[in-house]
Amino acid sequence: MQEYIYYSQTKLEFPLHESIYVTSKLEELTGKNFLISNSNEVSSELLADEIEFYEKNTEDSLQNKISNIKKLYEIAEQKLDCATDFPKSKEIGNRLLIISSSSEDTKAIMKSLDKDEFDTFHIEESILKSISGSIGSLKVIVEDENSESELNVDQIVWFDMKDEGSKQSGVFDPNQTSISDVINTLRENCQNYEYRNYISYDSTICQYHERRDEVCAKCVEVCPTVAITKIDDKKHLEFSDIDCLGCGGCVSVCPSGAIDYNPINKDAIFELSLNYKDTHPLIISENMNLKETNVSLKEGILPLKIEGGKFLDELSLLTFSQVSSSQVIFYNDELSKGTLEAIRILNEIYQKKYSKDAVLVATNESELQEAINKVTFVENSFFSFNQQTMRKREAFSYRVSHIVGDEDLGVVETGPNIHYGLIKVNEDKCTLCLSCVGACNVDALIADAKTFELRVNPSLCTACGYCVASCAEEDCLSIKQDVINLNPMFFKENVLAKDKLFACIECGKEFATTKAIEKVATVMKPFFASNPTKLKTLYCCEDCKAKLMIKEGLLDA
Ligand code: SF4
Ligand code: SF4
Repeated sequence: MQEYIYYSQTKLEFPLHESIYVTSKLEELTGKNFLISNSNEVSSELLADEIEFYEKNTEDSLQNKISNIKKLYEIAEQKLDCATDFPKSKEIGNRLLIISSSSEDTKAIMKSLDKDEFDTFHIEESILKSISGSIGSLKVIVEDENSESELNVDQIVWFDMKDEGSKQSGVFDPNQTSISDVINTLRENCQNYEYRNYISYDSTICQYHERRDEVCAKCVEVCPTVAITKIDDKKHLEFSDIDCLGCGGCVSVCPSGAIDYNPINKDAIFELSLNYKDTHPLIISENMNLKETNVSLKEGILPLKIEGGKFLDELSLLTFSQVSSSQVIFYNDELSKGTLEAIRILNEIYQKKYSKDAVLVATNESELQEAINKVTFVENSFFSFNQQTMRKREAFSYRVSHIVGDEDLGVVETGPNIHYGLIKVNEDKCTLCLSCVGACNVDALIADAKTFELRVNPSLCTACGYCVASCAEEDCLSIKQDVINLNPMFFKENVLAKDKLFACIECGKEFATTKAIEKVATVMKPFFASNPTKLKTLYCCEDCKAKLMIKEGLLDA
């Protein structure tokens, strides 16, 4: 199979690399399969229309143009190879519910359906109580004359659908498209309903998973569908691939990196960024219409088309910026809250260091041209390292610490979607019980067993506050919310509290921290005051404590 095809009605006036099949005749392609095509008129596994956009608009020299076109095919293939999503399918039955308040609407849709094509039910919107489940297994609760009943259907047509319907897969509103469009969709779904698993999830670093208090559920808040739901009694997140639209909004707001975007995950972003060294990356979200976009792409601009334009976070954008040592142009008119905040934070960091923005956003053609005219390399900003084994926070921290170096560049405010924080400890009150270390699942708080120190790496802290909620002492642990201090100490481990080991007064074995023993002794002394042996046990290890008490018991007997 020839993998790459370049099809254009008008003949190319220059040659392309031999790995690319070039043609202006569609009839030549009958029966041929391709991996990557520049045009949607040719069937292929991946449409890379950014190639045609680049070819038509670039001002690169002919030699660079020829080699960059080949490179763009290779980048598209790399995207396919790195993708970790996989297709799934589900059988969809023919039970159809029509929800409308007008008999005209119901008649209109029934008229357009073939007889016996669907097993059709109809209800008025006024009796609808709730819809749950997914396409192929939707559960509808209706209330009629004070009694509730349940309908189980495969798909729903809901005229003037309310928000609740738009969150569920398998629910369609003819007033948003048309009756014929909706009927075509219903039929197609019954033939073959395919979906993908866009999201991967690591519960071990999730800030919601199995915590007593709810300190995060940001992904649930931003998800436009019911693809992520909270099971509050177990504190588990439930993911429904079939309901996920693949927008990626949850990825950009996840503070810990527990969610990743399977079509282009964190590792793929790093791999792809390596192609953009010494170029100006132009990241284009798939919702932008490239066919009708005419701009002059000045020399050195290389596009990257991405799916799900809402997943880019601070790490992805900084990776592109540092590896290319250029400002990055992001062409997207549907920016997510998380991406917008990531861009603001990165731009503030870059302004402080390089007096330039890291990311230039364009939401339409004229803004794109403006960004293209403006984009420059950022002197001394190149930085690349293999971040593939690192978590999101760790890799971002490493990248920002490189920018900061030995300087103090001041403070950048974060939040409300990307949180950083500074943990403080009142050393007089801290007993070094280390409950806070156990509560922190992103390794921002660390206990050093050799030095008996409680340490914090501020750059890893998501400021979730679970350590504060877990601390047994009052007014001991606190967090200053939403700051990144751009100085070297913010990216290193700092000592929060320190102690030394206490040696058993009987056998000399070190068995607990001095502060913990002092605390227990302060509380228990009044109760044991009349018994010198019991008082002594407060300063003994478990073995000697038992021995002393047995001896005391035997003497008493
Ligand atoms: S946003 Fe991330 S850390 Fe927060 S609940 Fe969702 S998966 Fe967990
Ligand atoms: S990708 Fe979008 S639709 Fe899918 S789970 Fe995340 S926020 Fe929800």
